[in-house]
Amino acid sequence: MKYVSVLLPLALPGTYTYTLAPELAASVQVGSRVVVQFGARRYYTGVVTQLLEAPPQAGVALKPVVGVADTAPTVLPAQLRLWQWMAQYYMCSEGEVLKAALPAGLKLESETLLVRNADFDAAGHHLTARDEQLLQALDTERGKKLSELEKELGLKSLMAPVRRLMDLQAVQVSETLSQGFKPRTETRVRLAEAYFSEPRLNELLDALQRAPAQQSLLLNYLDLAQAPAALRLQNAALLAPVAKRTLCGARGSEAAFSALRKRGVLQVEQAEVSRLRPVMPPEAVAGTPLADRSPKPLGSEQQRALEEVRRALGEKQVCLLHGVTSSGKTEVYIHLMAEALAQGRQVLYLVPEIALTTQLTERLARVFGGRMAVYHSKFPDTERVELWRRQLGPDACPLVLGVRSALFLPFQRLGLVIVDEEHETSYKQQDPAPRYQARDTAVMLARQWGAKVVLGTATPSLETYRNARSGKYALVEMPLRYGHVELPEIVVEDVKELRRKKLMTGSSPFSPRLLSEVRAALAGHEQAILFQNRRGYAPVVECRTCGWTPRCTRCDVSLTLHRGLNKLVCHYCGSVYDVPLQCPACEGRELRDVGYGTEKVEEEARRAFPEARIARMDLDTTRSRAAYERIIGEFQRGEKNLLIGTQMVTKGLDFDRVRVVGILNADQMLNQADFRAHERAFQLMAQVAGRAGRRSGRGLVVLQTRQPQLPLVEQVVRSDYAAMYAMQMEEREQFGFPPAVRLISVMLKHRDEQVVAHAAEALAAALRPAFGPDLLGPDRPVVSRVQLLHLRKLLLKVRPGFTPQSVRRSLWAARQWLLSQAAYKSVAVVFDVDP
Ligand code: ADP
Ligand code: ZN
Ligand code: ZN
Repeated sequence: MKYVSVLLPLALPGTYTYTLAPELAASVQVGSRVVVQFGARRYYTGVVTQLLEAPPQAGVALKPVVGVADTAPTVLPAQLRLWQWMAQYYMCSEGEVLKAALPAGLKLESETLLVRNADFDAAGHHLTARDEQLLQALDTERGKKLSELEKELGLKSLMAPVRRLMDLQAVQVSETLSQGFKPRTETRVRLAEAYFSEPRLNELLDALQRAPAQQSLLLNYLDLAQAPAALRLQNAALLAPVAKRTLCGARGSEAAFSALRKRGVLQVEQAEVSRLRPVMPPEAVAGTPLADRSPKPLGSEQQRALEEVRRALGEKQVCLLHGVTSSGKTEVYIHLMAEALAQGRQVLYLVPEIALTTQLTERLARVFGGRMAVYHSKFPDTERVELWRRQLGPDACPLVLGVRSALFLPFQRLGLVIVDEEHETSYKQQDPAPRYQARDTAVMLARQWGAKVVLGTATPSLETYRNARSGKYALVEMPLRYGHVELPEIVVEDVKELRRKKLMTGSSPFSPRLLSEVRAALAGHEQAILFQNRRGYAPVVECRTCGWTPRCTRCDVSLTLHRGLNKLVCHYCGSVYDVPLQCPACEGRELRDVGYGTEKVEEEARRAFPEARIARMDLDTTRSRAAYERIIGEFQRGEKNLLIGTQMVTKGLDFDRVRVVGILNADQMLNQADFRAHERAFQLMAQVAGRAGRRSGRGLVVLQTRQPQLPLVEQVVRSDYAAMYAMQMEEREQFGFPPAVRLISVMLKHRDEQVVAHAAEALAAALRPAFGPDLLGPDRPVVSRVQLLHLRKLLLKVRPGFTPQSVRRSLWAARQWLLSQAAYKSVAVVFDVDP
């Protein structure tokens, strides 16, 4: 008998030992997935982390491994090492990391929701009676749990047969986002060899005079298959097979197709198609194979930067490329990536948000073609599983573009990691665990591989810039824009003053200067962007008589009015409420909306710029990937000329014709109660300003604020990152915030406010002897209730003197003690490291 340690996708510490029957032992290695029972009747897919000759403890009854899911390991030892580090550093269980890392299709468990794949064609597959029974029991729309399926059919351990059906693509993990699913095989059409000569073809076309539908279909085929070139070269092998769907389309040419097939003119074949998305839009690829093209030649500033980065990476593992917006950093990355690929190494290119993959995919695919894969959570699970598998094998993609979860993919020879827009807060995962910072984890991943890291941005995070200044990271600067375009001019409009002088009146959020500049841009066939960092119509609604404001019943926040939906929405928990007709406090009938969201800005813009072609980009208009791509595409092609949006429009988008950018309300960013508020405001404003005048001459930014005297506003106007850094660092040092210290936050959550308040006091009392004044709180957070749970927060400052390990040990011990108290055992205690 053998034994294995198995890591399960659960929030429990450590691994569990199971016995391994001799007949299974041969197929199990470290990294193999095995099915095991845990608890009374739940089954999970876990990952083997260790093979043991003897059980760690004698005399304990162990359960057996029920089945082996893989013929070869699905998780590589390097991945297990990284996950271990993440669990330890970010204070969660390795099981939680595993859960985040594996796509759903690779971690089947009793609770997994399954659906039947509507596109599955049983012909050509050998299905057993039980397979048929399983398929019949499943719906194509509504998911059914594996455990329910077992109960319904009166069968046990269906995991293996279900997995087999998943491999055949007959069954999928249920997802709301499965619209993008494409069938695995497609029917392709070829010209029969017998007709492959010009005279024979002409003869045939003549004969088809009397069957015009067939003739036109054949001509269409010859066109799609690029027959002229093949015929010229007398080489039938050059004829490209054409997908039947492409050929017949929706124009009902089925009859003509069947006739040509019967005549023996066209032949069909089934071909496997990868569900991995083609990296370029089909129309761009049309017939020609994805040819790699060499990168653009660099400008002299870029060349200098490239050489400096290369030299720096000879000495240090990490290099910060600090280049102003539009300095051409992306082209520098492309050269670095091409070099790494030429050396046979793999490259990981991380971007903060899915949003950014759209433009970049096209740009990178032009150079790297089929050597690139894209990975992110909006792709259907089946595609993610397929890429995962591919990365384990001999034809692993050498270049992966992805969001933070791409860190979890298997790599075989990672040589370079690019972290684009490294300052972006979306690199930090908030919920659930692991609450990791992908930028920092990427540095760790690279270290394990002896790989290099380039962190790129126009507005570095204070953490990274400090590391660069201290010499921990190398620093390369690009202070000039590509092509000698000047950075935009930034003018400040004092909204308070303008309102006082009645130069801004009524409900318009636009200052006179902004109005005239946008009008001039649109009249000159150029474009403008208006940035308002709030979605919805109005962030607050209030009763005119008594000042009552509707709030979420589950969270401690006021509700946002969405005009389009005609509903009130909670931006914390997503709850939707009707707009009240009457104030419940005073029965007043007049409610007014206060403040601006993007929806209201759009309405005001339609009034102020009636001639504009307006697009709005925020979370509400970009629920689907397609919608996002459409908006970007329309603006890029100039079909729309005024773009209104939240911080989504600040991200590294590259547009040619943006003359004016309006920052409508800087105060909303400046007044946030967060120690990073000013850093963040600088980054957002500098980034959105960076969208202006990228190619054709200098752009203009109109920055509207009620606090023009703030030093930060002046720093934005002068694009003076160094001044912002110096000032913010001074504050952080003085008040003890990162990067001067490290923070670990401890959030306690419970339905009962009394319980959570007392638990927080008790936990603080237990920790105070060790940390004294470095332990802050307990505090009631600004939003003190979310989704019916009351919150209390402790904040621990870890000063350079403390070893992080001992701090973590104290925290774990205090948590364990707290949860062992009967009164507090149902309190959730959540750690967040480097929040
Ligand atoms: P950044 O990433 O620093 O914001 P980009 O790499 O997006 O800058 O470059 C800004 C613009 O300049 C892009 O439109 C890009 O196509 C163009 N560009 C940059 N470098 C070159 C080059 N070497 N040759 C031609 N165009 C370039
Ligand atoms: Zn009222
Ligand atoms: Zn809510």
